[in-house]
Amino acid sequence: MRHTAHGYWLEEAGGITPASALSGDVTADVVVIGGGYTGLWTAWHLRARGASVVVLEAEVCGHGPSGRNGGFCETLWTHLPSLIERFGRERALEVCRASADSVTAIGAWCEEQGVDAWFTRSGYMMASTAPAHDAVIDEILAVAPPERVRRLSGAELRGRCDSPRFRRGLLAPDDATVQPARLALGLRAGVLDSVREHSRVVALRHSPGEVVAETAGGRVRAGAAVLAVNAATRGVPPLRNRLSVTSSHIVLTEPVPDVLDALGWSGGECVTDARTFVHYFRTTRDGRIAFGWGGGRLAPGARLGGRVEIDAEVAGETHRHLVQMFPALAGRAITHAWGGPIDVSPSHLPQIGTLEGAPVHYAFGFTGNGVGPSHLAGRVLAALASGETTDLAVVDPQPVRVPPEPFAWVGGMLVRRAFLRKERLEEAGQAVDPLTRAVTAAPRALGIHVAR
Ligand SMILES: Cc1cc2nc3c(=O)[nH]c(=O)nc-3n(C[C@H](O)[C@H](O)[C@H](O)COP(=O)(O)OP(=O)(O)OC[C@H]3O[C@@H](n4cnc5c(N)ncnc54)[C@H](O)[C@@H]3O)c2cc1C
Repeated sequence: MRHTAHGYWLEEAGGITPASALSGDVTADVVVIGGGYTGLWTAWHLRARGASVVVLEAEVCGHGPSGRNGGFCETLWTHLPSLIERFGRERALEVCRASADSVTAIGAWCEEQGVDAWFTRSGYMMASTAPAHDAVIDEILAVAPPERVRRLSGAELRGRCDSPRFRRGLLAPDDATVQPARLALGLRAGVLDSVREHSRVVALRHSPGEVVAETAGGRVRAGAAVLAVNAATRGVPPLRNRLSVTSSHIVLTEPVPDVLDALGWSGGECVTDARTFVHYFRTTRDGRIAFGWGGGRLAPGARLGGRVEIDAEVAGETHRHLVQMFPALAGRAITHAWGGPIDVSPSHLPQIGTLEGAPVHYAFGFTGNGVGPSHLAGRVLAALASGETTDLAVVDPQPVRVPPEPFAWVGGMLVRRAFLRKERLEEAGQAVDPLTRAVTAAPRALGIHVAR
């Protein structure tokens, strides 16, 4: 198994030459901090409005999670139950429709800009792998419009992808897949003359009507700033108690067209199970299976806890889970393994807003589901940075906070362990003990969603 920091997608997309670093003092209408999808979509929308923009990226744009995720380009339809609980049905539906418009817009953008990001709208399937998980699917089906989310019987599900673990499921046809690095680098190319790389922002100051973003090499003075730094938001004092940071890991098989044939998995659907620490899997153009697991470790405190990109133990476990899901893959080679940080919102929904008393707008907390929603966030952030307001429910709602350290980390570790145990027992058809059940129920009592 070849473990790399950046993973397969960036390798497949081909190398690039980094843009020059910020040097000296410059001015712009808006300074965007962070060059992943969120920052790049924001820059794209701002430039389309005629604004001058500087994007400051600590490393190279698109080399963070945006260039190495699973490539599930999802709408928020399967989050409808929690959106309704938070905002009521009408406002929740409005958010889901906006998220579906964003997936459509990403596909149209690729087409218009000639970016071959493998955008494929084949839908997303969620499959229950234990009787206890059927309820997750039923809860979504009970509230979602049937044209947006439809029920799949066990036979229908296995007709599309024949895992012996699948019981029954749902299909969200609006969802798509992309080659994530091709999308990120395509976006980077679209705004390249605004981009400064190897330009980590070390200080952000504001006075009425002005923000100043400082790097080791220079300063950008602007009328507004957009903070799009994903997991690094944990290091931003006013926002630090609004997210926690975990990690997700992917293993990639060698090309296995024979296995895909045997599974009948030719439609390009992306699939997850219905667990809290979700397994997600999809095919690639050259007949591989990319299989990810959201069960990575929690990062302590404000730090990311070392190189979450490479965690051999979690990668090994992810490989074992892959073979349990698809026994025909036993003995087939894993060519790549990688991972990255996840910016987890206590609500499991993205957080978009403006810092109190400062022209600094932010988006974070995509919770492992940012490929589609970061387009929506970028559109909203461009509007906010242009002085407009929006009444979309996910913008500036009452925040849910995570407990202070060290309680967040210690509590998070205990909860992670309890969920892993609960789901292992459920999938083995065994009873879950009362203590494990109590620990997994505890976050909900604090208003924290550990699952969608
Ligand atoms: C293994 C894995 C699999 C995933 N799978 C999926 C999936 O299938 N579908 C899905 O929807 N989502 C998935 N995600 C999540 C998805 O990748 C993210 O939600 C999305 O990429 C977030 O984009 P972003 O622009 O907000 O953040 P990022 O891509 O993290 O970009 C933030 C950027 O900010 C930069 N930065 C940080 N601090 C500073 C600073 N001080 N100054 C300047 N720059 C800074 C970083 O270097 C980085 O480039 C996955 C994530 C991982 C790790």
